Amino acid sequence: MVLMVARRSPKPKVGVQILLGLPKSADQQILSAKQISAMNLQKAKVVSKKSLTGSVFELQFKTFKDFNFKAGQFITIKINDNSSPVCFRTYSIASAPNNENLFTLCVKVIENGRGSNWLYSLKEEYEIEFLGPTGNFTFKTPPGKTALFIATGTGIAPFKSIVEDELPKGNTQNMHIIFGLRQENHIFYKEEFENFTKNYPNLKFNLMLSRPENESGGKRGRVTDILNNLPIDTQNTEAYICGLKEMITDITDILIKKGLKKEQIYTEKYN
Ligand SMILES: Cc1cc2nc3c(=O)[nH]c(=O)nc-3n(C[C@H](O)[C@H](O)[C@H](O)COP(=O)(O)OP(=O)(O)OC[C@H]3O[C@@H](n4cnc5c(N)ncnc54)[C@H](O)[C@@H]3O)c2cc1C
Repeated sequence: MVLMVARRSPKPKVGVQILLGLPKSADQQILSAKQISAMNLQKAKVVSKKSLTGSVFELQFKTFKDFNFKAGQFITIKINDNSSPVCFRTYSIASAPNNENLFTLCVKVIENGRGSNWLYSLKEEYEIEFLGPTGNFTFKTPPGKTALFIATGTGIAPFKSIVEDELPKGNTQNMHIIFGLRQENHIFYKEEFENFTKNYPNLKFNLMLSRPENESGGKRGRVTDILNNLPIDTQNTEAYICGLKEMITDITDILIKKGLKKEQIYTEKYN
């Protein structure tokens, strides 16, 4: 039997391509059932599900075998919705590595999106199959330097994993999270990050709302606005950007204009 692994988004998912060894330009690749079964798919069961906003939810999983990942990495899930062709979707892990084989994903439901809607339909105990952990969007900033984390939407996931890992370990480097959302009812993880800033003074957290209904939830503006006005010690700062492509391009341009070199900027694109 021949199955098709398709990428339905405008651009193929880079993570999936690398994992499957597909050419970057491929929109579709026919894979045999044998090829799919040869993939080193792992299994995990849903432990819990929690809504964070009207369209963003968290799923916690527990793997059956030892699961060692680095904060900032992602997994690629087989979307087992019985539709053809078989498809895979990639998600950053939003929790810190632990000894309990647990991990959490933070997913936005995309209108008519096959992967995100299927994940949203999962119930406790359901078993998923996935590839990974994979990815190099991990914390690399040497001691003494500042890490600037910039995300919009669920692009915050790898940064949650990284700060939840680094700070309790005793990392005292300056870390600054700039998190962009649209409006008050889209806010999630604010409390978690604010609590972290109370316990770890080396962490700074700014929530920006691009279209707020009032001024109570976060500062009005885009992540680009805060960055334009932010003094950056270009010799001693590294930036990590995660989210959709357009935002990553805009932020990268600003940081380069401010004097950061490309080697000081790490990116993770979701589309
Ligand atoms: C390395 C990597 C890590 C990722 N991590 C996450 C994650 O932690 N959480 C998450 O929700 N998604 C994440 N994604 C995106 C995810 O893989 C899917 O693309 C997304 O869930 C949409 O899949 P779909 O099948 O539901 O919709 P599709 O029909 O495949 O996509 C529809 C549209 O959704 C847009 N889109 C994709 N992701 C998002 C998003 N997060 N927010 C808004 N628009 C989006 C795409 O541009 C596309 O145009 C990640 C992608 C990559 C490559």
